[in-house]
Amino acid sequence: SALDAGLIWFEGELVPAAEAKVSVLTHALHYGTSVFEGIRAYKTARGPAVFRLPEHSQRLIDSAKIIGMPVPYSADEINHAVLETIRHNGRDACYIRPLLWYGAESLGVNPGRNRVHFMVATLPWGVYLGEEAIREGAKLVTSSWRRSPGDVMPTKSKAGGNYINSVLANQEARGSGFDEALLLDKEGFVAEGSGENIFFLKGGTLYPIAHSVNLRGITRDTVIKIAEWMGTPVVPTMATRDELYTADEVFMVGTAAEVTPVSSIDRRPIGTGKAGEFSLKMRETYLKVVSGEVPEFDHWLSYVNG
Ligand code: PMP
Repeated sequence: SALDAGLIWFEGELVPAAEAKVSVLTHALHYGTSVFEGIRAYKTARGPAVFRLPEHSQRLIDSAKIIGMPVPYSADEINHAVLETIRHNGRDACYIRPLLWYGAESLGVNPGRNRVHFMVATLPWGVYLGEEAIREGAKLVTSSWRRSPGDVMPTKSKAGGNYINSVLANQEARGSGFDEALLLDKEGFVAEGSGENIFFLKGGTLYPIAHSVNLRGITRDTVIKIAEWMGTPVVPTMATRDELYTADEVFMVGTAAEVTPVSSIDRRPIGTGKAGEFSLKMRETYLKVVSGEVPEFDHWLSYVNG
């Protein structure tokens, strides 16, 4: 693999990435029957720290529960595997990818007979949407692919199969020269980006897009709590795309994207058409929080070296 994963937690042991192999008959490879997480560890004054690890481990377990997958590990065991993997790879910051998947015992659609496997990989990963998207603001385009309705796919689960929807939307947006896709739900309300939740700011109030078919983002929850701590009124709301066009600011949030300002949607400039002041301030504050520089939020960090 071209990915620089170092040692991977695989079946309860740390093994070199080249040795962490699976069968081509793996059920998950054929049907997308896996669940995963995306977590980050940041460099802090006390060594690397994982941001909101217990919440991510719980969401992994919840994702499995949603698709009916039995998980042979507790949240504590998942936390332990993540921390051990980081410790043994010796990076001060990384992106963390835990994955649970059905193995190669049977290729029938029903995975009842298939073993559940677990791995944790850590990767070096910088700014997800690029430095320019942060400086200038990202250019979004409304996707022709709608977010899967809740009675078609279990969108609260980070299940592998669900991500075909994100892949199609992101490919379409990037292929047309935009930075990211804006996915609407089947009624036309704003759902989320291909891997980010959406916020807008209007008249000094911060509006997170309300929960419906969007993922219950951990960064979304973090940003709401930071905004409340900063004294900004926060009102979760449903919104149509045109409501975003006329917002003062729009930004996207996610573990990978962190806080990324949006400068245009469907070629209409948002606010000044540049990265918004509040969005940049929120990005700066978020990066301080994840780096352990804000004592109020230090409880969100799991320090790798204790
Ligand atoms: N929506 C989707 C579809 C995602 O894949 C992600 C990334 N996990 C998010 C939103 C943001 O979630 P989080 O802040 O927990 O990373």
